[in-house]
Amino acid sequence: MSTAISRRSFLKMVTATGAVAGTGFFVYPGKEALAASSAPEEVKYSHCVMCNHVPKCGIKAIIKEGKIFRIEKREGYLNNLLCAKGLSSLQEIYEPHRLLYPVKRTNPKGEPSKWQRITWDEALQTIAEKFNGVKEKYGADKVLFIAGDPKEPRSILQRLAFTFGSPNTGTESSTCYTANEVTSKLLYGKEWYTASSITTPGIAPTPDTNCCFIWGNNPAWAMPFSFDRMRNLKKRGVKFVVVDPRVTPTVHSFADIHLQLRPGTDGAMALGLAHMIIRDGNYDKDMVEMWVHGWDEYREYVRQFTPEKTAEITGVPVDRLEKAAAMVPGGPIIIKTAPAFGHHSNGVNNYRAMMMLVPLTGSLDVPGGHSIVNEPLPVDLWEATYEFARSPELLPKIRHLRADQEYFPVWADLDEQGTIQVNMLPEYVRDGKVRAALALGVNTMMWPQAHEYKKAFQDMEFAVAVDFHENPWTHDYVDMLLPAAVSFERSAPLTIYGRNIFLREPIVKPLGEARSDWRICCDIGTALGLGEYFYGGGEEAEEKCLREVVRTLHAGISYDDLRAASPAPVAIPMKSGPKFKKWELGMLRPDGKPGFTSTTGKIEFVSEFLRERGFDPLPVYREPVYSPVSTPEERKKYTLLFNSGSREPFYTHSKGRGTPWLRQLQPDPLVRMNPVDAEARGIKHGDWVLLTSPMGKEIKMKARLTNIVLPGCVDLIHGWVQADCNLLVSRDFDPISGFPPYKEGLCEIRKA
Ligand code: SF4
Repeated sequence: MSTAISRRSFLKMVTATGAVAGTGFFVYPGKEALAASSAPEEVKYSHCVMCNHVPKCGIKAIIKEGKIFRIEKREGYLNNLLCAKGLSSLQEIYEPHRLLYPVKRTNPKGEPSKWQRITWDEALQTIAEKFNGVKEKYGADKVLFIAGDPKEPRSILQRLAFTFGSPNTGTESSTCYTANEVTSKLLYGKEWYTASSITTPGIAPTPDTNCCFIWGNNPAWAMPFSFDRMRNLKKRGVKFVVVDPRVTPTVHSFADIHLQLRPGTDGAMALGLAHMIIRDGNYDKDMVEMWVHGWDEYREYVRQFTPEKTAEITGVPVDRLEKAAAMVPGGPIIIKTAPAFGHHSNGVNNYRAMMMLVPLTGSLDVPGGHSIVNEPLPVDLWEATYEFARSPELLPKIRHLRADQEYFPVWADLDEQGTIQVNMLPEYVRDGKVRAALALGVNTMMWPQAHEYKKAFQDMEFAVAVDFHENPWTHDYVDMLLPAAVSFERSAPLTIYGRNIFLREPIVKPLGEARSDWRICCDIGTALGLGEYFYGGGEEAEEKCLREVVRTLHAGISYDDLRAASPAPVAIPMKSGPKFKKWELGMLRPDGKPGFTSTTGKIEFVSEFLRERGFDPLPVYREPVYSPVSTPEERKKYTLLFNSGSREPFYTHSKGRGTPWLRQLQPDPLVRMNPVDAEARGIKHGDWVLLTSPMGKEIKMKARLTNIVLPGCVDLIHGWVQADCNLLVSRDFDPISGFPPYKEGLCEIRKA
């Protein structure tokens, strides 16, 4: 079956944001054969997981002979969009390189893999012997359970780890969003839902919003489904300040003011804005008097960030800074953010400085501001429940065995969901804290200096990976590889929009012997001798898990209610109407008293939690580890500032590179550079170029000359195995969050 289509016909379907134009649908190239079949058409409903966002876009699938041959928008669904990635999910399921059977290695790890097909029974028996062997010899905590993409199996993976006795579960959120959550917890307290809901980027659809800061975020490419909501705000007269080193489509579409700052200087920008807001008296005086801890110390600290000093650090002219600060008075602000903030060596403090602008401007939990969710449902970050994961029950007994405790005590002490910071995996393996691993959808390219992580997997006594495809850059270093079902072949935990809960069930059978991650975890749990917690494994286990997830929601509904309503959702009514300023009402603390769950019960502009652990309690600004200011000698050799890891219209991280339709749209690894810098180096649009950094590695990319980036800055597109830009990134982790500095650093470029 041919997978080639005309580039023109595909492009006709997508707009600048990567979304489908009009109400169109997209046809799988195998349509002709299926269309000729007299088999009846079946319509089933699912949603797209190609960009990892929750909530996701709805999908209507047309199925013949048990095969999806067309997908369309799911009319009436809350996110009703299909971008290029969503359309291409059809090719993901039927692409010829799907892994279909369990295989075990027959040659040493670290060499190009030689695999031997094995049965599931043999695979499960081997895993059980190896994991139980490590448990007996060294302890259960020496087995790491880690999930990359998809995120959906996190809950069952935790249930497996905790029941086995290991507190060491990790996820790719160690490089994604958790740094932002850590920040919110430092401000408001350990209670997870409050921190998470304030942190989650969103556009509150209320007429009260006065000004929206889109900070380090390009929803046009990263969250196209939020575009219409933003457009509605713009039509209502909401002012937009976009803070971004790049001139993105979001800047073109929304910015009343664009603050085009030097990469890595967001913290100084936030402190400078705070300086001007306080100077002009445009802050919420009642809030700071009543509910802010450390106000005097903070105010004294921001005094030094005058407009002139802020302009000097960030490169944004004083008059622009003043104009942005002048947009704040008149109502609550929203700051729409992204994981970008964690991706700095001073990421948590930069983000703290930024998020302090929310209470400072009186924008916390008021109509049109940053809301704290009313009557949150007890769901975890990925739409199951912590009760199902068994974390409240088991984690307190084993959390002292966390591998990350001595490396990242702030993360470890704030975390109550049971996810360790995994970015020091090479060190954990070196120090004997991790000796075996179950890795679901893990990609060594997500880390800076991937070779260190490859070696970590290689040095483990046993590592098993689960994936859709064989990826040599990761799987050459594991002992066994198991085939995973793709989204249309598996159940998700649940799909939740606000208080609407959807059941998502498989719409086609898994190809080959692929199994869902949830079933695989149940099968492994059963093989480990823990079958009573994993329903004995097998085909029925996934549904039994979901029944338990729904039960542990304690929302008065059952799995059967969801199934009866499907594809429509079941809405969970609130017990009372919406409430605001919940801290005044005693709604945030377990003891019912007014205030927050932080150490002091207030919003900590000065963090006692950080002070207790030896960190500066203020949201201090520090220069990037490599920058013109901090490393002037390196700067002479590496004259460009880089940004990497941004979302693209056609790929999500490294996903989709094997999908022909997407590959036609963006076939090569790209570096975006300003024409001024290109001309100085004799580089033309489309030239192959070599990039180096102080890390001593070299990668080859294609130059795209564009004014999107400032002169002196470059934008590296990540996720290409032949040009892994994370090799240019240092392992100078933020000491608070443990996040890598993907969005700061120096590099140099020359023509290849
Ligand atoms: S924005 Fe695109 S990739 Fe993301 S869920 Fe929607 S269709 Fe899928």
